[in-house]
Amino acid sequence: MKQQARQYKTQMVVVGSGLAGFAASIFARDRGITAAQIGNTGTIAYTTGYLDLLGSASGMVLDDPWKGLEVLRRDEPCHPLSRITDDNIRTSFHRFTKALSEMGVGYTEPGEHNLMALLPSGLIKPTLSVPETMRAGIEAYKADAKALIINFLGMQGFSATEFVTNLEPVWRNMIATTLSFPDMESGAQVYPEVMARALEVPAIREQLAVRIKAKLTDAECVGLPAILGIHKPDLVHRDMQKLIGVPVFEIPTLPPAVAGIRLREMFEQVLPANGLTLVPQQKAERLDLDDGGVTVYLEDSFGAVVIKAQAAILATGRFLSGGLTADHGIVRETLMDLSVSQPASRDDWHRQNYLDPRGHPVNRSGLEVDEHFRPLNDDGRPVDARLFAAGTVLAHQDWVRQRCGAGVAIASAYQAVDAACETLSTQA
Ligand SMILES: Cc1cc2nc3c(=O)[nH]c(=O)nc-3n(C[C@H](O)[C@H](O)[C@H](O)COP(=O)(O)OP(=O)(O)OC[C@H]3O[C@@H](n4cnc5c(N)ncnc54)[C@H](O)[C@@H]3O)c2cc1C
Repeated sequence: MKQQARQYKTQMVVVGSGLAGFAASIFARDRGITAAQIGNTGTIAYTTGYLDLLGSASGMVLDDPWKGLEVLRRDEPCHPLSRITDDNIRTSFHRFTKALSEMGVGYTEPGEHNLMALLPSGLIKPTLSVPETMRAGIEAYKADAKALIINFLGMQGFSATEFVTNLEPVWRNMIATTLSFPDMESGAQVYPEVMARALEVPAIREQLAVRIKAKLTDAECVGLPAILGIHKPDLVHRDMQKLIGVPVFEIPTLPPAVAGIRLREMFEQVLPANGLTLVPQQKAERLDLDDGGVTVYLEDSFGAVVIKAQAAILATGRFLSGGLTADHGIVRETLMDLSVSQPASRDDWHRQNYLDPRGHPVNRSGLEVDEHFRPLNDDGRPVDARLFAAGTVLAHQDWVRQRCGAGVAIASAYQAVDAACETLSTQA
């Protein structure tokens, strides 16, 4: 017997569960709008945890992202961030980081200047807000403090020696050491996510702290790969600092990384408890727009699901997350076959030199939108008054090179939800 589809009815449906999708659900919740969200694992598990607004503009590394936005608006008026006012970008970052901190992963308050944050390879990058567990590393780097940098036997994706060697020219007072992690001493491969879950157990924290203290000598702070818990990182962090007796900081590891897994698990636990209808680990198969409103179709392990809403936010990301795809000749949008802004021919996708500082034109492919963040058809008109787009699926940005991944995701989600609310009020 064929099972009936499960049906949900909400005001807004968000397709995608990356930073942009979750930011959209948070902004909808703030406005008292009922929402449903669908999405499988995307790039969120790959992130460092840093929230970049804008780290580079017109070839300059930016200390002041707000001045950088002025340059961006002058040189790249079509960039998604150029189309959002400073006020809205500030509000979106403040609301988002506040929500993260309230939900259980503390973030630093976004300020007027970029923070110079640590990368696993021992490089430094500009970013606007970092997890509280990583803050002390930025301060220690600035102060050239004596630091003990630790990696673990069997752990891949982070080498304390590489980190110290690469940073030595600008941070002289560091020593690298290798420890074994409690109950993982065999030398077999150990995984950051498993270590992070283990550190939620107080006895494991105590054992690790004893091993770290034995190596501390005169170090003023301790840097660890990002393993300080999944669900209560701030508690684990505070406890480790107390047990060791000096400031402790996390350094992001290579993907898949704990900082992103933390965010994903927190969103998946807290937002449904606050009213979000979340269909995790699934992809929308079809999105229809007709007189009945927006209808999204998908299938999960219990059968067919149909979500009916009054407005939709498409936040499906780029190639890695499956929002865009490319064959030998053309870049396509995967869910609705929307028009994609892209170079005229495949010959123009890449520049001759792989490391060309201008980047490659194909990386700026994506959806063209109007001032309300509604995707446009080839004729320049909105596809539908109820369809909005947010995040890195948008055209005219190269988030890797411009260090603006979270900035584009958070600010455009804010703008798209704001515009969608107008639609809802006209339908009310
Ligand atoms: C290695 C790496 C490191 C990064 N480091 C940083 C950093 O330090 N700072 C920073 O600011 N940003 C960083 N980012 C960027 C950041 O993680 C996000 O890529 C960015 O913020 C864009 O978010 P998004 O939500 O637009 O897209 P994504 O994060 O790509 O999310 C898109 C989502 O849509 C889902 N999806 C696609 N198709 C469908 C469908 N049909 N139905 C339902 N769901 C669908 C995907 O599964 C995914 O969940 C990093 C990314 C990577 C890969």
